[in-house]
Amino acid sequence: MTTPEVILEEQGLRDGLQTLKTLIPTEKKLEWVDRLVAAGLRRIQLASFVHPRLVPQMADAEALFQQLRKHQGVVYSALVLNQKGVERAIAAGVEHLAISVSASDTHSQKNTRMTLEEAKADFRQNVQLARAHGIRVRAGIQCAFGCRYEGAIPAERVFDLIKHHLDAGADEIALADSTGMAHPVQMRYLISRALELCGPVPLALHLHNTENKGLANLFAAYEVGVRQFDTAFGGLGGCPFIPGATGNIATEDTVHFFRQMGVETGIDLEQVAAVSREVEAMTHAHLSGALYKIPARVSAP
Ligand code: ZN
Repeated sequence: MTTPEVILEEQGLRDGLQTLKTLIPTEKKLEWVDRLVAAGLRRIQLASFVHPRLVPQMADAEALFQQLRKHQGVVYSALVLNQKGVERAIAAGVEHLAISVSASDTHSQKNTRMTLEEAKADFRQNVQLARAHGIRVRAGIQCAFGCRYEGAIPAERVFDLIKHHLDAGADEIALADSTGMAHPVQMRYLISRALELCGPVPLALHLHNTENKGLANLFAAYEVGVRQFDTAFGGLGGCPFIPGATGNIATEDTVHFFRQMGVETGIDLEQVAAVSREVEAMTHAHLSGALYKIPARVSAP
């Protein structure tokens, strides 16, 4: 197989399933992981270590990491919001953690009960704790392109947070359009500067399709040099603390979009789509992706 030119990180099991009321059995999640790996995904976010009362779907985070059938060359990550989460992840043997702060003070307080300044200090300690245990850290900035509560987020604040995260020891930076408010012109500007700041540290993008601009934003970021994107099977996803938040850009749609432009993702669309269709059948969830519904022979370029 040719080496993928872009890396897609599958977020469906975490960002996706967290939005669903139907609790998925751990064994079923593990089967989906195996199938997603077979489909060619090499980065999979499995779960978040958050309070099970707040996000019941993530209550089996420990069990998932303990029972995971690890495959060579696949990165399995988890999301944490606080020190307790880092400690649980360390105990569960997690090797790659996503730790983030929100660029919006209001969203930060709703999501973590901390102001942005408090969250920054807390973030630094959590990154140090994780790295002291040999865990690689993807440092995220949520609501980097806009906030439903505060509106526009000043670009300078995002740049300051990138510097802050790099200084704290981030192995990767991830910018999240948690609200789907970004647009391609903003994307081009913000990402160009972010890439300069990151230098050799990889920069990933986490895009939501809430305003139907997900792939337009993805393309703008690709054109200025981003090669790592978060996607979710079927287009599942959404933050419980953002009004109207809908799914991530769909893995299948992104694979198809890149394939049509001759950009290799290394991912088999149909195998991912089969997982999406099963999730839909099991949970009666509304999946916002397009391509998972279209048989492979029709979607072929
Ligand atoms: Zn998200």
